[in-house]
Amino acid sequence: MNVEKTGGRLFGSGRCSSLSGSPGAAPVVHRMVEAMSQLQEEKSQLQEELEVLRERLALHDSDQQATSTQLQNQVENLKEKLISQAQEVSRLRSELGGTDLEKHRDRLMVENERLRQELQELRAQPAAPCLGCEHSQESTQLRDKLSQLQLEVAENKGMLSELNLEVQQKTDRLAEVELRLKDCLAEKAQEEERLSRRLRDSHETIASLRAQSPPVKYVIKTVEVESSKTKQALSESQARNQHLQEQVAMQRQVLKEMEQQLQSSHQLTAQLRAQIAMYEAELERAHGQMLEEMQSLEEDKNRAIEEAFARAQVEMKAVHENLAGVRTNLLTLQPALRTLTNDYNGLKRQVRGFPMLLQEALRSVKAEIGQAIEEVNSNNQELLRKYRRELQLRKKCHNELVRLKGNIRVIARVRPVTKEDGEGPEATNAVTFDPDDDSIIHLLHKGKPVSFELDKVFSPWASQQDVFQEVQALITSCIDGFNVCIFAYGQTGAGKTYTMEGTPENPGINQRALQLLFSEVQEKASDWQYTISVSAAEIYNEVLRDLLGREPQEKLEIRLCPDGSGQLYVPGLTEFQVQSVDDINKVFEFGHTNRTTEFTNLNEHSSRSHALLIVTVRGVDCSTGLRTIGKLNLVDLAGSERVGKSGAEGHRLREAQHINKSLSALGDVIAALRSRQGHVPFRNSKLTYLLQDSLSGDSKTLMVVQVSPVEKNASETLYSLKFAERVRSVELGPGSRRTELGSWSSQEHLEWEPACQTPQPSARAHSAPTSGTSSRPGSIRRKLQPSGRSRPVPV
Ligand code: ADP
Ligand code: MG
Repeated sequence: MNVEKTGGRLFGSGRCSSLSGSPGAAPVVHRMVEAMSQLQEEKSQLQEELEVLRERLALHDSDQQATSTQLQNQVENLKEKLISQAQEVSRLRSELGGTDLEKHRDRLMVENERLRQELQELRAQPAAPCLGCEHSQESTQLRDKLSQLQLEVAENKGMLSELNLEVQQKTDRLAEVELRLKDCLAEKAQEEERLSRRLRDSHETIASLRAQSPPVKYVIKTVEVESSKTKQALSESQARNQHLQEQVAMQRQVLKEMEQQLQSSHQLTAQLRAQIAMYEAELERAHGQMLEEMQSLEEDKNRAIEEAFARAQVEMKAVHENLAGVRTNLLTLQPALRTLTNDYNGLKRQVRGFPMLLQEALRSVKAEIGQAIEEVNSNNQELLRKYRRELQLRKKCHNELVRLKGNIRVIARVRPVTKEDGEGPEATNAVTFDPDDDSIIHLLHKGKPVSFELDKVFSPWASQQDVFQEVQALITSCIDGFNVCIFAYGQTGAGKTYTMEGTPENPGINQRALQLLFSEVQEKASDWQYTISVSAAEIYNEVLRDLLGREPQEKLEIRLCPDGSGQLYVPGLTEFQVQSVDDINKVFEFGHTNRTTEFTNLNEHSSRSHALLIVTVRGVDCSTGLRTIGKLNLVDLAGSERVGKSGAEGHRLREAQHINKSLSALGDVIAALRSRQGHVPFRNSKLTYLLQDSLSGDSKTLMVVQVSPVEKNASETLYSLKFAERVRSVELGPGSRRTELGSWSSQEHLEWEPACQTPQPSARAHSAPTSGTSSRPGSIRRKLQPSGRSRPVPV
């Protein structure tokens, strides 16, 4: 028997039976046959299974193909849908690009332009009748409406752009879906490829299995021949069979996996389909929404256009009607215009000649004005002349009045009895008055009544104001440029200081005079500008001291002005400009302080010295520039008691001599002035020399003779009253003057010595110059500080 070897590897079942003729080989062959048949069965089974597998594979293939074609179809469909959507979108875009809204806007703009042109035409027509008419208002309304419509168009545009944006978003999402679809398709393709590769592998395996079938047949035959070999081959084929079974199981597993993958791909496809359907629905909904909105916008737009159009038509109709009215007005106005033109031409002709007329008129007006100015000037001159004449007249009248009253007036003031007068017979009242004549005073002297007649007698009950009223006229004359001297004369304790200075509660002539000057100056402030300044000095033992200076001890000299004017001045005498009563009080206080620090017993000292308050009033007439200067000298004289006769010695005697000398000199000067002598002995005392300007010329002097009423002072009172009466009698007349002069007692300290002086040139009657005497401006407080240097004050 031929044994076919198959390269060492045999296929076949181990149960093959032997066909040899040996008796031991029969069961083996039988078994081998059995094995063979089993193998055959297995083989046929395997073939069946393979067939099934093949069928299933073919089915799977066809399924796969169907699925892939289905998917491809779906993709194609989706692509088509996408294209159609894109087309739809582009169509919508194109539709949106040239929307009716824009067209409507354009139409409105055109209409607006047309209306504007019409308005301009209307404006170009005669303006007067149309001013403020309804047309302009209507056109404004139309313009407003147009702008509203434009606003609406803008809003519509905004909405449109929003819709565009939405469409764009949808398109983007579609593209995204498309991308995802592509990715799925790619995955699908890969899966397909993988599956087909496996299929191919399976085919190959099957083919190899098929190819292996002949060797099995051979093996069976070989088994029949070679049982040992067959047995081996059987076991091998069994192993092989086992291996094939494993492979089939693997194939089954692969198939199962493939089925699962197929299922998952089906699921994915379903999901994608669902998504596509959802997007389609969304797209559909968005499209529907967009269409709805567009439709509503379109409706709104149409409605607005219709309304605007209707309104515009109505308004245009009204405008046309108005225009027609305006035209008719224009026609009626034309004749008026013609007459106006004629008038205008006439006026034009007149205007041509107007400059000439104007020049002529100007010339004549200028001439008239010049004439008027000249007249006014001459009138002013006349008025000024009259004013000056009046001023002179007033001065003259005043002079006359004072002259009539007397340039030197003498009044007596009797003080009341005081505690200092004591008690007893010495303190009894020696003075009585005439109830019917206030110029008479009676004195009981050593038991004998003596009467005196003066210009006025003030009883002890007379107030400070009463006395001041008497001197008031003199003080105001100072403002008019007169020099005034008011002396308080009398024995110590008779009330001189009380009358001149008074008390803080009841001030005397000094403060009241300055108050009066302030008020008078203020009244005249509209026409005159005044400055009031004060100096204070004292003369003690014929030495002149500045009470307001920084060095009150310093002796001051009276000198002639170096300008050769013949006027006198006191170098170093302090002068303060004062503007209020406060300033005055400060000046007085300062002077008083100076005096107090200098002298321990001020009362005694003041009774032995002359105290002078010199007030200078400088005025400028604002209209004429006329300048005046008046000086008011308020003098509290030293006590007139005759100390010399009581046997005083030493400095007391010297004081008395000085006082006697100065009071005598005062009497001499007054006498010389009243008797109009060529020489007035001013230089005989410091007092008269200092008051030279204020005593001479048309100056005025008032002597207040202070009288003590008590018995013990009767002798001094008699003396004072005699002096007063004599002084007063001097001015009664040149004839009587001389007669009176003769009656002066030569023993008394005020003895009249009319011819004892050598002739001297008379001092000038007018006031001191203002040039070197300007008062220092600024507050009195500053002036009172000891930094400044006193300036010379003319006297
Ligand atoms: P003199 O200055 O002449 O020495 P005073 O003025 O000092 O005299 O007066 C002496 C006193 O008499 C003072 O106490 C003063 O107050 C008082 N006296 C003077 N006159 C009057 C008067 N008219 N009314 C009241 N008191 C007077
Ligand atoms: Mg006194």
